[in-house]
Amino acid sequence: MTERAESLPGHRQRLAHACKRAGILPALTGLRGMLRRDLRILAYHRVLDDERLDGFDFDPELVSATADDFRWQVRRVARHMEPVRFADVIAHIEGGPPLPKRALLVTFDDGYDDNYHVAFPILRELGVPATFFVSTGHVDSGMPFEYDWLVHMVRNAPPGEVRLEAGPEGGALSFDVPSALDARLAVAGDLLARMKEIPALEQTALVGRLASLWGMPPRPHPQCRPMTWDQLREMDAAGMEIGSHGVHHRMLAKLPRDEMAWELQESAKRLSAELGHPALSVAYPVGGPDAYDDAVVDAARASGFKAGCSYISGTSQAAHGNRFELRRIPVERHVDRHWFEAMLALPELFMHPTPLPRD
Ligand SMILES: [Zn+2]
Repeated sequence: MTERAESLPGHRQRLAHACKRAGILPALTGLRGMLRRDLRILAYHRVLDDERLDGFDFDPELVSATADDFRWQVRRVARHMEPVRFADVIAHIEGGPPLPKRALLVTFDDGYDDNYHVAFPILRELGVPATFFVSTGHVDSGMPFEYDWLVHMVRNAPPGEVRLEAGPEGGALSFDVPSALDARLAVAGDLLARMKEIPALEQTALVGRLASLWGMPPRPHPQCRPMTWDQLREMDAAGMEIGSHGVHHRMLAKLPRDEMAWELQESAKRLSAELGHPALSVAYPVGGPDAYDDAVVDAARASGFKAGCSYISGTSQAAHGNRFELRRIPVERHVDRHWFEAMLALPELFMHPTPLPRD
């Protein structure tokens, strides 16, 4: 789960269609290739097939693509880009061979089991490697992620005013739960944005307070299930990479320093124990400018990781100086095929900008 990108298609989509119609994308791509040599990292969350989309009761903003669109996107990547692994990127940074000209990494955050059931077979069939950043505490417990549970609760709560008094667990909070689903999802989005501004442990407490208010304690749910260690081992053995997304999916820069360092060390330890080798990379949960800082980067390095991904929009020169602040290109479900093509060709023009914290 991450910063929310702007949610409506707009001028980027229109421009992408215009470029496609004019047939100028190949020329622009060639020109860009002469001027810039950088690493493109796609960022996905969930990929759902029709069966899983039917009756979906969690956060639709986290559905990056349908299975059909994902297959089309991966085929496009296989044909027109040069997919690499973090192992290649790190080897290059540490003095190894240069990366190919159109190097691209495919990454997934959080570790939903649709990654295993839907995305992994497509990636394997088309021969494209990907990195899956998982929160090890959720793999261990099988419990849904807190932000997802919040959205699930808002979807299902009784309509009316909610008023939480200030107390030892956190500040006062009031909002209305409307009747219509669209309005509820807007309220959930606003709550998530407000939550991401407060300290990480208060975020957890807030979800707990709402869960007791509504009588909806978090429980394992088939629509929001983390992958299992067996599934991750199978993917690892098939050439996919598994990275860290912390233990409890908490915003690391908003945790007390010792807990922040523990999240990184412990996730590294669990990944190494379960996979039989160390994980190379980490993606900072939520990943925006307020989700990680220099202390987080130092702790990631000290935990043995060799590279780190933010969720700040952009591409990166893969180099020593920025290996722990790699930028990514978010893929959202409303990005259609022409737009995706344009985003691969000219990411700076066509990708979503990093959202403002309250977006
Ligand atoms: Zn996440």
